[in-house]
Amino acid sequence: MGSVSITNKPHAVCIPFPAQGHINPMLKLAKLLHHKDFHITFINTEFNHKRILKSRGPGSVKGLADFQFETIPDGLPVSDVEATQDIPTLCDSTRTTCLVPFHNLLNKLNNNISYPSVSCVISDGAMTFTLDAAKELCVPEVLFWTTSACGFMGYLHFPQLIQRGTIPFKGVKKMRLKDLPSFLRTTDPEDLMLNVIIGEVGRANEASAIILNTFDVIEYDVLKLMKALLPSIYTIGSLHMLLQHIPNNELRFIGSNLWKEEAECLKWLDSKENNSVVYVNFGSITVTTPQQLVEFAWGLSNSKQTFLWVIRPDLVVGDSAILPPEFLTEMKERGMLSSWCPQEDVLNHASIGGFLTHSGWNSTLESICSAVPMICWPFFAEQQTNCRYCCVHWGIGMEIDNDVKRGEVESLVKELMEGEKGKEMKMKAMDWKIKAKEASVPGGSSYENLDKLIGEIFITK
Ligand code: UDP
Repeated sequence: MGSVSITNKPHAVCIPFPAQGHINPMLKLAKLLHHKDFHITFINTEFNHKRILKSRGPGSVKGLADFQFETIPDGLPVSDVEATQDIPTLCDSTRTTCLVPFHNLLNKLNNNISYPSVSCVISDGAMTFTLDAAKELCVPEVLFWTTSACGFMGYLHFPQLIQRGTIPFKGVKKMRLKDLPSFLRTTDPEDLMLNVIIGEVGRANEASAIILNTFDVIEYDVLKLMKALLPSIYTIGSLHMLLQHIPNNELRFIGSNLWKEEAECLKWLDSKENNSVVYVNFGSITVTTPQQLVEFAWGLSNSKQTFLWVIRPDLVVGDSAILPPEFLTEMKERGMLSSWCPQEDVLNHASIGGFLTHSGWNSTLESICSAVPMICWPFFAEQQTNCRYCCVHWGIGMEIDNDVKRGEVESLVKELMEGEKGKEMKMKAMDWKIKAKEASVPGGSSYENLDKLIGEIFITK
């Protein structure tokens, strides 16, 4: 048998924003496209590439002949600190410094005759500098906003809100000011994140298409209105449900964790009864004050529920996480602490009955796809909007006050796990899971939209 020629494959260059909640969904999309016979180049920042290697070993970013990893610098001073990078600083740095290395990398790829030439760029929606490089190569570029549609809609309204001061705005019902993406909470017209968002959404129309990791029925109204603003929207979520259709996936060992995963919690969960454990995790960016941490600790303890609590090493601002010794003694029988876990597996575990979350879109969608109802403690960005949708539109969440107090944690956790409201939310969550599944099977909206995206944008005849 001769060697298989790869030079005729479409070649997609995937470049996520360098944060965990953006890298994960982009990697899933890259794997799906690889399964559809694309050659993939996946670009991480040097900083994250090193962290991924360290957290899971060389296998995590080894790649294959037709699925390769490349890196570019993020423009920040070189650092070995394994902590979440400051998001506004990172946004500023990627926007102002990454175009040249990205451009050079595309040229390098195109000059290598063992790869097919680059045929499309898939970039994070907040990395629109990439549009300039794609234009120069004359290849289509698709922007992947890794947000919910409702959250993205909030961002799309930023420029108008600033211009006219018009609140409430059209297209997103039953919203309060506090439910809009947090970046709007500023009185400074020069505010960095406000201007980053205005700049990035302002270029959304220049892309050949926009991808969202959501499914049509759950955000039907907002998507309908959004399509009037941005015609080429492809909803292809949940990406992880779509990925489940790939049997013997040769890419399953390729990972994107920035922290070392502690899988022991799965064994611990095996020893628990169905729907009996509260899972607590605030994602990769949220930080708490030491006092908030203590309030959560006592709230969980006083609820008398069993819990799995993931405390990232850099979760607490200032000092390292200090939990009261009495709490640690008290929780021994009922709780497990971990620093980073395989979240999708945890949420899918039969013993998990509820999720205390920061309402990041990936976490929210993963929870929906596992039929797990939530207590929402949104931190920043469009998490406030996700929280509102979970609580009011989808009926699968209860909001907890930002100024968290142990009494509220205790009562909400009890309600989630044992109360009538908790049962109602569980039923609704089960319905949404069925709908998410329907969207991801052949004939379903997300399944079909992925094929349409490929046929209409990536491989035009
Ligand atoms: N995640 C994980 N293990 C953890 C915490 C988070 O694998 O212990 C993953 C989670 O499954 C999700 C991502 O990290 O895919 C977090 O993204 P999200 O949008 O929820 O929040 P962000 O980290 O961006 O605030």
